[in-house]
Amino acid sequence: MTAALETSGLGKSYGRGASAVSALGALDLSIPKGIVYGVLGPNGAGKSTLLRLALGLVKPSRGSVRLLGEQTIDARVLRRVGAMIEAPALYPFLTARETMHAFARYSGLNDPAREDAVLARVGLTGAADRKARTYSMGMRQRLALGAALLARPELLILDEPTNGLDPAGIQEMRTLIRELVDQEGVTIILSSHLLDEVQKVCDRVAFINRGQLVSEGKVSELVAGQGSLFIRATPLAKAMAVLGARGRVDGDGIIAAVAEEALPALIRDLVSAGIDVFEARWMTQSLERVFLSTMGGAQ
Ligand code: ATP
Repeated sequence: MTAALETSGLGKSYGRGASAVSALGALDLSIPKGIVYGVLGPNGAGKSTLLRLALGLVKPSRGSVRLLGEQTIDARVLRRVGAMIEAPALYPFLTARETMHAFARYSGLNDPAREDAVLARVGLTGAADRKARTYSMGMRQRLALGAALLARPELLILDEPTNGLDPAGIQEMRTLIRELVDQEGVTIILSSHLLDEVQKVCDRVAFINRGQLVSEGKVSELVAGQGSLFIRATPLAKAMAVLGARGRVDGDGIIAAVAEEALPALIRDLVSAGIDVFEARWMTQSLERVFLSTMGGAQ
């Protein structure tokens, strides 16, 4: 299957000569379709630059980018893509319904039913006849997302979609993003520095630092505790005797360094030693810890 976005040796420098700023080094990425993909990194890492390059808003200085399999980023391929870059520019004196209509006309769409369906999709039906200036930040963000959804895009590119939102707004946006991907098969590429949020909403992530790819992978694999098992068993001392140097007591349980292949034998040993095992689970670490350790290694 063609990737949603593919970059090869992609680089961008702003300015020329001695004052040139390298925003992106030489990025090789392949973002599959059908998932939520997070581009993460500290301020100035190059996240927005990557999204702008993907949309053809800025031209690469080096390398190439393919959007939905197309090497030329023109109006034809951009019709298949919705984007929310920077703070949404909405018309404060238009209602949500009027806003949708204006964006629909701008995109050459004449489908009032679609406008209503999108308003419902982003949860604004009840507020559709209120002017956007009376909206909360979360509602504005959802209205902007609605505008990006009007033309039924296959791919949505969202730069910091939860920027400026309160916890309830973040949660609404997260639910909406997951629904669009899980129920409607849209692919979403978003940038963020809210790692906790990203962990909850993204399937895969790329960590970028100073324009370089530091690590990339499935969120579930990145947060998997490498070989750390939490065991709750009694008597604890007897379980520790079985584990020996592999275990250390932590609260009412034991944290053990065990390879996955060695787990069945360990459970058998515990049980045959007369130990009651109440819990044995692989520990996960937060994406934030993974991020900090990979970024630390990248300095
Ligand atoms: P943030 O989270 O702060 O938005 P970011 O990861 O999106 O950061 P970019 O906005 O892509 O990072 O910026 C990467 C680097 O390129 C930064 O050093 C930034 O100052 C620089 N940069 C971005 N746009 C321009 C521009 N138009 N002209 C000059 N330098 C730029």
